[in-house]
Amino acid sequence: MSAQAMLMTPKEDPWDVALKQFDRAADHLPLKRGIREFLAYPKRELTVHFPVKMDDGSVRIFTGYRVHHSTVLGPTKGGIRYHQDVSLNEIRALAMLMSWKCAVVGLPYGGAKGGVVVNPKELSQNELEHLTRRYATEISILMSPEGDIPAPDVGTNPQVMAWIMDTYSMHRGYSTPSVVTGKPVSIGGSQGRVEATGRGVAIATREMARHVKLNLDGARVVIQGFGNVGSVASVLLSKLGCKIIAVSDTRGGVVNPGGLDPARLVEHKNRTGSVAGFPGANLISNEALLELPCEILVPSALEGQVNEDNAARLHTRLIVEGANGPVTPGADDVLGSRGITIIPDIVANAGGVIVSYFEWVQGLQQFFWAEEEVNQNLERIMVRSFGQVLQVAADRKVDLRTAALIRAIDRVADALFTRGIYP
Ligand code: NAD
Repeated sequence: MSAQAMLMTPKEDPWDVALKQFDRAADHLPLKRGIREFLAYPKRELTVHFPVKMDDGSVRIFTGYRVHHSTVLGPTKGGIRYHQDVSLNEIRALAMLMSWKCAVVGLPYGGAKGGVVVNPKELSQNELEHLTRRYATEISILMSPEGDIPAPDVGTNPQVMAWIMDTYSMHRGYSTPSVVTGKPVSIGGSQGRVEATGRGVAIATREMARHVKLNLDGARVVIQGFGNVGSVASVLLSKLGCKIIAVSDTRGGVVNPGGLDPARLVEHKNRTGSVAGFPGANLISNEALLELPCEILVPSALEGQVNEDNAARLHTRLIVEGANGPVTPGADDVLGSRGITIIPDIVANAGGVIVSYFEWVQGLQQFFWAEEEVNQNLERIMVRSFGQVLQVAADRKVDLRTAALIRAIDRVADALFTRGIYP
C-alpha cells in the first residue's frame, strides 16, 4: 500500500502533496513496506495552545506546532513559519520536505518545521516578541543545539531568531547561540545567511541553464514573492545577465517587459512595504504574473501556486522552486508533458539550510568564517548536489524532482538500515 493511502488526507492538502511526491520516488526504490512507512510518517508532532498578553491588556490564545519528521541522519533542522493559514498538515509536509532537502545536499540533519497560526503583520513589535518568547518556551521541550535547530521561514526573520535564542539561553542560564540559525551576525549568525537561499536559487538556475544551453544573457525572469528568497534571487539573477520582467508580493505585482531594476525594487519595498507602485512599471495580478511569457519562472511565495488550474497556461521554459512546494503533483504532470523543466525545491532552495548548517557549525566551534568562505562552500555543495541529481535523472530517466527525492530517500533509508530498528 502506498504511504498516501496509509495516511488519508484531503486532495491538494500540503501533506497529501508531500506523500504523493514521496510515493512517486519511493516506487523506484526497493523499500520494504515497514521501512517505507517509517520514512513517510513524522517521528513526533507537538501542538501547543498558548497565551500572549496583547498591548491593550487583553490575553489571546495562539496555536503553534513543531514537527520532527526524521532523526535518522542527525538532529532535526527546519524553519518556523508565522502565517494565518499554518496548519498541522502544512507543517508536517514542510518537515518531510526538510528531511529530503538535507539528505539530497548531504547535510547531517533530519527534517523539522514549526509554525504559529498568526498574521505577524497584525501584531505590534512588542506582541510579536511576547508571542515568540512564549512559543519558544512551549517548544523548548523539543528544541536544542544537539536535537532540533529552528531557522526563519515565511513571516519570521533574524530578529525573531534572536528572541528565540535569548529565551532559550535565559532558561539555561548561559548563551546558547547554536539553538537557532538565521540569527543576526552580532549574536553568532553567519555571514551570507540572509542571502543564502536566493544565492542557491541563482546557482541552481545557472547550472541548469548551462545544462540545457539556455543563454542567461537577457533571459526573461518572473519572480512570485518578493521576500527574503525572491528579492535576493532577483538581484543575483540580474547579475548573471537575466532580465527581471515581473515581481510580486501579497499586495500585487509589477511588470515591465523592458526589465526592472532589482536593487531599486528592494529599496522601494523597504520604503513602502510592497513592490506595488514601483515607478516605471505596470500593475499585474499574481495570477496573470505566473502566466507571463518568460524563460525562467521563480515561484518564491507559498505552496500550491502552480497547480492543475493554471499549469497549462504557463509560458516558461524553466521553473526554479524558490518556495517550498509551489508546484503540485498534478501540475508536475502537465508541465512535464509540455517540456517545461522544474528545478525542485529541495535542490533549488537548499542554499538556506546549507548556510544554516555552516552557522550551526561555526557557533558550536565558536570560530567564524568570512563571507567569501561561506559563499565558496555554498557554491561547492550546490554544484555538487545539482550534478548528482542530474546524474540520477539521466540514469533512471526520471524528472528532476523524482531524481532528487530518490537520492534523498535512498540516503535516509541506507542510514536507517545501517543504524537498525531499535530495540
Ligand atoms: P518571506 O516572508 O520573506 O517572503 C514571502 C514573500 O511572498 C512576501 O513578499 C509575501 O508578500 C509574498 N507572498 C505571499 N503570498 C503571496 C502570493 N500569493 N502571491 C505573491 N506573493 C506572495 O518568506 P521567504 O523566507 O522569502 O520564503 C518564501 C518561500 O521560500 C517559502 O515557501 C519558504 O518556505 C521558502 N524557503 C525560504 C527559505 C529561507 O531561507 N528564507 C529557505 C528555503 C525555502
